[in-house]
Amino acid sequence: MNIGKLIVFSAPSGSGKTTLVRHLLKQSLPLGFSISATSRRPRGKEKNGVDYHFLTPKNFEKKIQQGEFLEFEEVYQNLFYGTLFSELNRIWSEGHHILFDIDVKGGLNIKKKYPLNTLSIFVQPPSIEILKERLQNRATENNNKIKERIKKAQMEMNFASEFDFILINDDLKKAKKEVVQIVRNFLES
Ligand code: ADP
Ligand code: 5GP
Repeated sequence: MNIGKLIVFSAPSGSGKTTLVRHLLKQSLPLGFSISATSRRPRGKEKNGVDYHFLTPKNFEKKIQQGEFLEFEEVYQNLFYGTLFSELNRIWSEGHHILFDIDVKGGLNIKKKYPLNTLSIFVQPPSIEILKERLQNRATENNNKIKERIKKAQMEMNFASEFDFILINDDLKKAKKEVVQIVRNFLES
């Protein structure tokens, strides 16, 4: 199998990764989204095999033991997320390059494993205050969960400089335009 390129989006929760990744997937670019596995429950309209592979904690653990993950992290207490090797195989065998929406540690791990083929992008919110507002407006987590995510965000911002590119997501229209340009340039390089 030919190894294609990997494009990693990492950022504190609420920065706008999902919004930007969805925008990229609508362009006519040869990209496929890596559907992560998670031990968290689906929320809202999320579908198994589309947004995530939703696994029970026991099944997630089994896949760890069987070496099925390229990387995995306990992103929040008792909530595991990871990238399955089967996703890389699926997307590359379709002749596409891979888009990842994963946490900061996972993103840097992928860059370490495929240094020449990976573009790592850190999506930065204009400020922690604005991040908090976005999470509150998104209204997918309760106040305690939002607090946990904000606390983690403060730590994650310290890793921004380790990424190939820092994309400040302030004006969404501008950020969308910028992200398409960065990815096009990388795919053509
Ligand atoms: P993430 O995937 O990083 O957790 P989302 O893409 O879900 O973030 O974005 C978090 C919330 O902020 C969503 O409700 C989204 O619509 C909104 N959002 C994203 N980018 C912007 C922006 N530039 N300005 C205002 N709101 C934004
Ligand atoms: P959420 O619960 O909001 O969908 O995601 C929580 C966090 O887990 C986000 O920061 C997201 O990027 C991260 N995440 C999603 N999939 C993976 C993965 O496969 N590996 C790692 N390390 N983090 C992931």
